Amino acid sequence: MKEFLNHLSVLQLIDNELATLSFKNQEIPKKIEGMKLALKSVKDDLELGKHNLQELKKKYKFSELEQKAIEDKINQYSVQLYQAKTNEQYKAFLKEIEGQKLAKNKVEDQMLENLEQAELAEKKIELLTKELTEVESETQSKITDLEKDEKDIKAAIKNREVERKRSVENLNKDILIIYERIKKGKGGLAVAEVKGEKCSGCQNPIPPQIIIEIQKAERLYFCEYCGRILIYPHE
Ligand SMILES: [Zn+2]
Repeated sequence: MKEFLNHLSVLQLIDNELATLSFKNQEIPKKIEGMKLALKSVKDDLELGKHNLQELKKKYKFSELEQKAIEDKINQYSVQLYQAKTNEQYKAFLKEIEGQKLAKNKVEDQMLENLEQAELAEKKIELLTKELTEVESETQSKITDLEKDEKDIKAAIKNREVERKRSVENLNKDILIIYERIKKGKGGLAVAEVKGEKCSGCQNPIPPQIIIEIQKAERLYFCEYCGRILIYPHE
C-alpha cells in the first residue's frame, strides 16, 4: 500500500502541474486578445484624430469662403456709399457696412479658434502616431514571446500527459477511481499531506493516533473533514 500511496502522491503532483499548465495555456490567447484590443484602441483614436482634423480644415475653408463673400459685400457697399444720393442712403450703406464688418469679425474669430483647434489636433495626431509605433512594436514582440510560451507550455503538457499515463499504470484501478472522484469534487486536489498535525487540504487537525496510522500506510486514510486521501510526507 505504501508504494501505491507514493504513486498516488506523484500522480497528484503531475495533475497539479497539468492544472497550472492548462490554466496558463488558456490565459495566453486572452492576453494576446487584450493586447490586440489595446492596439486597436490607439489606432481608432488616431483615426478619429485624423478625421477631426479633416473636419476642422473643411470648416476653415468654408469660413474662408464666408470671409471672402463678406469682404466682397463690404467693397460693394463701400462703392455704393460714395454713390449715395441722399443722406438716408448714405446712412443705410454705412449701417450695412458696419453689419458686414461685425459678421466678418465673427467669422475671423471662428477661424482663429479653428486654427487653434487644428493645431491641438495635429499635436494629438503626432503623439498618437508615436504611441501607435511604440505599441505596435511592443505588442508584436510580446505576442511573439507569448506564442513561444504557448509552444513551450503545450510541449510541457504533452510531457506531463505521458508521465501521467505511466504513473496511472502503477496504480490500482480502485484507488484510481477513488482518486479521480475526490479530485473532481475537491477542486483538483485529492491527496493531502499531514502537515503540522493538520490536513494540508483543509487545515483541520488530525488526531495523533490517526497520524501514526497514516504513517504506517497500511490502508487508505481520508481526512474526516474534507474527505481527501491523507498521506504522510517523505522526510
Ligand atoms: Zn482535510
